[in-house]
Amino acid sequence: MSLVANTIYGENYATVPLRHHWEQNGEQRFVRYQWRYKSRWNELQVNAGVHPKPIEVNSAEEFFTEHYWGYTKRGARTSEYEVLHPRWMIYPVLQHSIDVDFEALYGSGFASLATRTPESILLAEGSEVEVRSGESIAAASRDTCCGYTNKMARKQGKQDSEIDVIDWLRKLPKCELHLHLEGTILPETLLELSRRHDAEPLTPEAAKNLYIYENFLGFLDSFKAVSARLKGPDDYELITYNMIRDLAGQGVVHAEVYISFGIIYYWKQVEVEPYVEAVERGRVRGERDFGTTVYWLIDAVRHFGAEEAAKVFRKAAELRAVYPSIVGIGIGGDEARGSADLFRDSYAEARAAGLRLTAHAGETTGPESIWAAINIGAERVGHALSARTDGELLDVLAAKQIPLELNVTSNIRTGCCKSFDEHPVKMYFESGLMVTINSDDPPMFGSNLLEEYVLVQERFEFSLEQMRELAANSVEASFLPPERKLELLRRVEQYGW
Ligand SMILES: [Zn+2]
Repeated sequence: MSLVANTIYGENYATVPLRHHWEQNGEQRFVRYQWRYKSRWNELQVNAGVHPKPIEVNSAEEFFTEHYWGYTKRGARTSEYEVLHPRWMIYPVLQHSIDVDFEALYGSGFASLATRTPESILLAEGSEVEVRSGESIAAASRDTCCGYTNKMARKQGKQDSEIDVIDWLRKLPKCELHLHLEGTILPETLLELSRRHDAEPLTPEAAKNLYIYENFLGFLDSFKAVSARLKGPDDYELITYNMIRDLAGQGVVHAEVYISFGIIYYWKQVEVEPYVEAVERGRVRGERDFGTTVYWLIDAVRHFGAEEAAKVFRKAAELRAVYPSIVGIGIGGDEARGSADLFRDSYAEARAAGLRLTAHAGETTGPESIWAAINIGAERVGHALSARTDGELLDVLAAKQIPLELNVTSNIRTGCCKSFDEHPVKMYFESGLMVTINSDDPPMFGSNLLEEYVLVQERFEFSLEQMRELAANSVEASFLPPERKLELLRRVEQYGW
């Protein structure tokens, strides 16, 4: 932590030896925190209550709700660890003792702290600790981190092998952050659209066959055949409602869904307002009936050019005033024919209009496309496959914790990634990147978010605790307001034990 504080934030922290210890005894929790400074052990001891309350948004305590890093040293051995998304809880103080040389540590202005009575303590309880190198903290000493000890206790309750994993993953609260509305049409919905529009409606068999293809061109043909039956605003209402029903069935509590205004403008040659009204009708009904909330991200097509994107983003900003569920924008389409640099001004304008910024990048081209996306201010990156070839980029993505919207099955089915073995999802996760799992165009790829979670867990051997971490990442990386994030993070944290 001191390294980060000193180098990145320019502060002046000393690295000191630490000792932590806590134990619970009936209705009291004993916590001791010691650190040595200039050959003197400073010490805080607290007897606290056992009924915590969560940190309130914008409270002074919220200052603490960041990542932190540290290391343990035993003899010559040093282990580094990171506490992932600490879930701080506030406990009331019953008794305390302070033996701290505040003056030596912080200067004479802080001397009076020794006589103050603290009202509460914060514990990062139940938080994940990732060992980045060296031995586990539990192996080093029990006197290290409260969160880790707590997690170990929970782990002993039930082994992963005793759990029905698919059911566990289905009920795990999670967010879907990379999903295209036009790519969510299930064969059953396609049948309904066909009955509306085709002189000779598709048979169920024919509808299913439209989803079967061999390669990327086949995928595009399938996508076009399905989209061609998406004609009027009412169709958009139908697919939105059905999408939310399907998401809720997979345990998705919130989704951020791309709508391609670019395609409505240029394929349909019509104004978008009636379509937005229609998807909003579908959203409101779907949220009411199934409980899964939806935000919209308005997508422009890279290869239609910067001017068209600016038009799309301005329309998004204008409609946001009417429909606050429109929260952000993005660019998709052909990366090779539309470098992110071209969209710098329109991204700045969108940001100034209060829109959040995402970008598909590094799906079909190299890491330079991801650099370009970050450099124009993208807050989340879709796919980011090619980051794996650029160590410096991986470092930046990890340091800045820029969320990556990964889509494993999509990458395999489109051929952007040749095999599961080559997919970087586990490598990214283990390198400390902010990984989220998503489904892109699920029925087109014969998948959905739940199946992506199952796939990742099985094929890449993520533990259930790591799956929980991925679900927590999806909440943190969402554009939800902080209070809803905290509520969902608590649900993720308390789930299933
Ligand atoms: Zn996509």
